Amino acid sequence: MEWKGRQESDNVEDDRGRSSGGFGGGGGGGLGLLMTIGRVFGIKGILAAVVVGAVLWKMGIVDPGMLLGGGPSSGGSQQVQASPEEQERYHFVKVVMKETEDVWTAEFAKHGKKYVLPSMKVYRGQIRTACGGGSAAMGPFYCPGDQVVYIDLSFYDELARTFHSPGDFAQAYVIAHEIGHHVQKLLGVSDKVAAMQGRPDYNEYSVRLELQADYYAGVWANHSKQDLKLDNSDIEEAMTAANAIGDDMIQKKMQGRVTPKAFTHGTAAQRMRWFKKGLDSGRIEGGDTFSMSYRDL
Ligand SMILES: [Zn+2]
Repeated sequence: MEWKGRQESDNVEDDRGRSSGGFGGGGGGGLGLLMTIGRVFGIKGILAAVVVGAVLWKMGIVDPGMLLGGGPSSGGSQQVQASPEEQERYHFVKVVMKETEDVWTAEFAKHGKKYVLPSMKVYRGQIRTACGGGSAAMGPFYCPGDQVVYIDLSFYDELARTFHSPGDFAQAYVIAHEIGHHVQKLLGVSDKVAAMQGRPDYNEYSVRLELQADYYAGVWANHSKQDLKLDNSDIEEAMTAANAIGDDMIQKKMQGRVTPKAFTHGTAAQRMRWFKKGLDSGRIEGGDTFSMSYRDL
């Protein structure tokens, strides 16, 4: 894979200086929160919030700056200097992001649709999102509520170490999968699946959604093959990553056994199969993971 020197996306925000202090990100968080509590619960609510805040502060769970309204200090002493490797990864994700923008804009246009560009936020540690608090431990994720892909670059160390899938293209695949969720958001698929939450068979729909995102990652790879000079070893890498981060593999690592009912992403074999399907076809249309029976996925 060749990516250096390629154009980078303008829709990537560097939040690494701000996000390390906890969920107060965004500035002015604490005071705004108190005012909201005041509006809803009155003065008693504010007093209760202050007491709870003070207890949390004493326990070391929040820092006082957050409660008083400043949010964690941005920049200054909390700024962690990025290593040269991390900076390289930062440029890498921007190039991959740009590549997804180009491919999906063209694919949507083929169908007379407009691809609304998502954003990406690179953070460190913890971050507040429209989907709740995000943390590095969750790995990269897409939030449909604000249409942002969140990524803590340390995930890539984790990917290399724990799941044995180093390599540039494995890292690109992970982003392409999250962008696949954005495609689903724009096509209305994710909203339909979200509406099923609470149903006993919701987990199956969640798996179908995940496998479709893998398919879209494959579609993207099909169109980026030439730009990024992908070869067979790159594709192998992506398959290894898909293989490594299947739910069955993750479950085995974490608890030593596999419980299919708790699958949310599909098995490693399923993920590889759908990624490959997308890669071979390069077409949005071939990614219907919802019509076929669950067994045949
Ligand atoms: Zn996913």
